[in-house]
Amino acid sequence: MKILVCLSKVPDTTSKISFTDNNTRFNSQGVQYILNPSDEWYALVRAIELKEAKLAESVSAVMVGGAEDDALLRKAVAIGADTLYRINAQPMDAYSVARMLADFIKTQDFQLVLTGRETIDYNGGEVPALLAEMLGWELASPVNKLDIVEGKARMESELGALTQVLEADLPLVISAAKGMADQRIPNMWGIRNSRMAVIQVVEPQPVEPLVRFVNYELPPAKGQVKMIPADQPELLVDLLHNEAKVI
Ligand SMILES: Cc1cc2nc3c(=O)[nH]c(=O)nc-3n(C[C@H](O)[C@H](O)[C@H](O)COP(=O)(O)OP(=O)(O)OC[C@H]3O[C@@H](n4cnc5c(N)ncnc54)[C@H](O)[C@@H]3O)c2cc1C
Repeated sequence: MKILVCLSKVPDTTSKISFTDNNTRFNSQGVQYILNPSDEWYALVRAIELKEAKLAESVSAVMVGGAEDDALLRKAVAIGADTLYRINAQPMDAYSVARMLADFIKTQDFQLVLTGRETIDYNGGEVPALLAEMLGWELASPVNKLDIVEGKARMESELGALTQVLEADLPLVISAAKGMADQRIPNMWGIRNSRMAVIQVVEPQPVEPLVRFVNYELPPAKGQVKMIPADQPELLVDLLHNEAKVI
């Protein structure tokens, strides 16, 4: 079984988020990008664990992105992936990302495609479902535990307090969520390998996005903080009652 893991890049949570061109474009200037946590920590690590347990033949990783993303994509090899693909396009909406991934996957022989449940920037959670539909494969989402038993995927999916145990034939798209694996820190050997890793660049057919960003609305600026002297609790009560109107 060959596994493909779809990796998305997202701003590091410490990045300062701002917009340019009249709030119509995300300002990526100075933004540090990381691999989307559920893609790296859960999908990729579980795929590598399955390979280590001899339940998978190989683990490949793919990203729809530009050449500026190559260093980030190499991290997948540092963690244990075998092969890297970059679909050479800027992600513009979930539909076009899924379309380019699906077109690529159709040319390969992967039996299992793992994605994250959602990204931590746009949080769409749409790519896995669109991808499964475009491939004509089943989708299991969100999946918290994954095993391969007698050639089938055995999964657990948590729905609130309820846990569903699922089984599905391959080929399959799975969106990975918390619990599937634990984050792995690359070791020196992995980092060395990743520097030499070849990224296979795939030129996609142009795909028009279905959704266009009109503009981003920033939240209103926070009001000033009022400091109340510790010996004036009655003033605090008065302000909460008459000004903030919360009591
Ligand atoms: C620099 C930059 C600029 C952008 N500009 C725009 C813009 O102008 N307009 C706009 O609409 N959107 C823009 N986007 C967002 C882009 O549309 C989203 O990345 C895309 O729609 C996927 O949606 P999502 O992030 O909600 O993914 P979700 O559906 O939440 O992703 C779920 C999973 O799908 C996989 N996946 C998602 N994206 C990728 C990818 N690129 N490659 C491989 N796997 C992936 C991952 O496994 C991920 O965990 C931009 C993104 C970036 C990084």
